[in-house]
Amino acid sequence: MVINVHAGHNPDGKVACGAIGIIRESTEARNVKNEVIRQLKGLGHTVYDCTVDNGTSANNVLCNIVGKCNSHAADLDVSIHFNAGAKDMSGNGRTTGVEAYIYSDNSKAKPFAEKIVKAIAALGFKNRGVKINKKLYVLNHTKAPAMLIECCFVDDKDDVALYDFKSMASAIVYGITGQQYIEPSNNTSDDDAATSGSETSVGDKDSIYRVQVGAYRNKANAISLQEKLKAAGFDAAIVKA
Ligand SMILES: [Zn+2]
Repeated sequence: MVINVHAGHNPDGKVACGAIGIIRESTEARNVKNEVIRQLKGLGHTVYDCTVDNGTSANNVLCNIVGKCNSHAADLDVSIHFNAGAKDMSGNGRTTGVEAYIYSDNSKAKPFAEKIVKAIAALGFKNRGVKINKKLYVLNHTKAPAMLIECCFVDDKDDVALYDFKSMASAIVYGITGQQYIEPSNNTSDDDAATSGSETSVGDKDSIYRVQVGAYRNKANAISLQEKLKAAGFDAAIVKA
């Protein structure tokens, strides 16, 4: 696929930056956008980063984003945003969640948007659904089928606690492609095998030795364990089998 991806708004600290809550929209949208692009490229797709970092106003940012989007013949335009307005700064035990916007019910972006909100909801976020909006500039000025994703709420403590840019990006990539990006096996291949010269004791160099600590049917449980391992200093990857 050929995919245009951009983070909404100017960077934080500049005019026309995004919403600010417990986390900052412009910064997190860029974190997610960069990871989405990395994973999509890793899966072999052609991706254009249409983010604008030096707009002079909100309209100028939107206009320049659309200019970049329309300079490529893409299958999909993906605009990454974070929502605000939950006003749940102390946490009520419930996320306010994810939603996505498309221009019309006939938009070719609709099935992608539906899969994306479903994949993000599988992380534990409330699914607010795919909504029609004719007024959003990036939806009504882009040539390719377009969607705007509001990943989760920056001003909801429960959303922020669950949010992690990598799993958010993985869910978006899965929603677009149906594919799950798996890190190249550099970290898991045993470099010592090549230098020690005693492969029988170190291992077969054509095999990959996984260190497994859990296997779950529910992805949220896998993510929860991954977070615990990361917090404990382990570099943990989720592998779908
Ligand atoms: Zn936004």
